[in-house]
Amino acid sequence: MGLVVQKYGGSSVADAEGIKRVAKRIVEAKKNGHQVVAVVSAMGDTTDELIDLAEQVSPIPAGRELDMLLTAGERISMALLAMAIKNLGHEAQSFTGSQAGVITDSVHNKARIIDVTPGRIRESLDEGNIAIVAGFQGVSQDTKDITTLGRGGSDTTAVALAAALDAEVCEIYTDVDGVFTADPRVVKKARKIDWISFEDMLELAASGSKVLLHRCVEYARRYNIPIHVRSSFSGLQGTWVSSEPINQGDKQVEQAIISGVAHDTSEAKVTVVGVPDKPGEAAAIFRTIADAEINIDMVVQNVSAAATGLTDISFTLPKTEGRKAIDALEKNKGTIGFDSLRYDDQIGKISLVGAGMKTNPGVTADFFTALSDAGVNIELISTSEIRISVVTRKDDVPEAVRAVHTAFGLDSDSDEAVVYGGTGR
Ligand code: ASP
Ligand code: MG
Repeated sequence: MGLVVQKYGGSSVADAEGIKRVAKRIVEAKKNGHQVVAVVSAMGDTTDELIDLAEQVSPIPAGRELDMLLTAGERISMALLAMAIKNLGHEAQSFTGSQAGVITDSVHNKARIIDVTPGRIRESLDEGNIAIVAGFQGVSQDTKDITTLGRGGSDTTAVALAAALDAEVCEIYTDVDGVFTADPRVVKKARKIDWISFEDMLELAASGSKVLLHRCVEYARRYNIPIHVRSSFSGLQGTWVSSEPINQGDKQVEQAIISGVAHDTSEAKVTVVGVPDKPGEAAAIFRTIADAEINIDMVVQNVSAAATGLTDISFTLPKTEGRKAIDALEKNKGTIGFDSLRYDDQIGKISLVGAGMKTNPGVTADFFTALSDAGVNIELISTSEIRISVVTRKDDVPEAVRAVHTAFGLDSDSDEAVVYGGTGR
């Protein structure tokens, strides 16, 4: 019986009842002979509420102070959880990210973990305690200031601790039963995936699937830490994310041709209209965007209209970066040379992900057929070895996701996708 790291999200510890339920589950694991480290998020929507509060006193809160404020959320849940466990007659100690040895760079609000030195956690475990760790936070190596890892960062804390402590598994407890073939909030007939490779999971996360953060999966793949995503409400087997299939009982788990359909409505499209069709133009546009520290997603340049010698270049980016991108391009309009800019935030992206598409030639055709049968118009297309993505009108997204899900035979016979909690905020 080895060491397990368990992570509980905000919806699992939303209130006192939730905290008591989670405490029982942790004690179960301990009774089964495991050493247990539990990483917790802030209760319910606490983080959002703290951000709202900060914005009431200052429209652009100072990064250092915002981090100090937000880390309070996880401190509340970790202390309450330790108390609840003690109340069940077991020993537990809570630790802040800094005490747990989560060392980061000094970029406030989206720090990266650069090292984990969990000496105190190890000691506490060796003394027989259950260790509770505040997720989503660390301490900067340079400034010694408290940092946070970006929204949803507790998953990354859990995987990083699992790697540093050489855990058997990192269990991520959430408000659904695992990773589904589509967002169960959109597709009632989404099916739970028993096993998925790190590669497919990374593509799903990059394509808008919210169940696991991209950074967390990246970390798990780098250190080869198997992740088990499951519900803290149901106790069912969830989804294993690992390099090789993990068999469940006598069930032979295999690589699926298609892992799932992801969607994302958080992006916008910028079109640079009337760009001279000559070398160096795309470079100038995307240098401008890069200098503004904006990450872009898809890019297309349409066929130049021969008569004018001009072309249009469109790209997608997070809506939150839209203003910045437009300002940066406008500022450099003279040097880049274009007619005008168009901004469209009513778009959505639908992606089909699966390693099997490398060896199954019909996948792309079937994908486009499903979209056309559903009457969905495609505006942009991009592909990787194991993914096809299209941009459509935002309003078409739910229908398109369902159509593609059905077309690839992913629908389950029953409505097995249960959403147990969370406000989806
Ligand atoms: N409480 C933080 C958030 O809501 C971190 C997390 O939940 O993982 O983003
Ligand atoms: Mg949260």
